[in-house]
Amino acid sequence: MNVLVIEDDPSVRTLVRAVLEHNNNEVHLADNATKGKELALETEHDIIILDLGLPDGNGLELCESLRSQDVDTPILILSAKHETDVKVKGLNTGADDYLTKPFNTEELMARIEAITRRSRESFAKKQELSCGELYVNLIERKFRVNDEEVSLTNNEFNLMVYLMRNKNRTISQDELAKNVWDIHFDTQTNYINVYISYLRKKIRGHAENDYIETVRKKGFILRCNDKE
Ligand code: CA
Repeated sequence: MNVLVIEDDPSVRTLVRAVLEHNNNEVHLADNATKGKELALETEHDIIILDLGLPDGNGLELCESLRSQDVDTPILILSAKHETDVKVKGLNTGADDYLTKPFNTEELMARIEAITRRSRESFAKKQELSCGELYVNLIERKFRVNDEEVSLTNNEFNLMVYLMRNKNRTISQDELAKNVWDIHFDTQTNYINVYISYLRKKIRGHAENDYIETVRKKGFILRCNDKE
């Protein structure tokens, strides 16, 4: 993993670096908030280990500022301050966990493991969509019905993804033309009916119904009865 450590205390920095490198991680070091922010913005890291009391700023503010600039790297706060309100503040500003100094290195590694695993799991989860027996994996670009893989063309796949992201809502043909085909001024939307019929046919090959309902004069709705 690629780890960014923002910490001004040289002894802690050296210790954290040694432990991380010993566990086969690549470590970037910053001894102040400015440099830490620069590194966090220019390189993608798997986790940021962040001290609260830095010579040129406060770790909580840095954390908040990174989150506001869309850095969603998991952040583990490391600090001597053990008051509960500081912990709560840290978690409220978008940190993922909190470890109080002095800490033992096994606990540090265990926390890092847990945070990065959670982050990987939540990323993987976001790449999956489902609706009853229908399932889409966005990373693999796979579509399954009733656990059976169904091969879709590119356009069919993109249409299926759009329907699944907007399930249980009526979607007009114009909306589909715009969002799936990127066509903005089109009066000839009959090809959408054609693609919908392809999808229905493929779904029905593996399921009892095709899930896609036609809403007269309005469009289509992908009907799911999931509890979500
Ligand atoms: Ca410090």
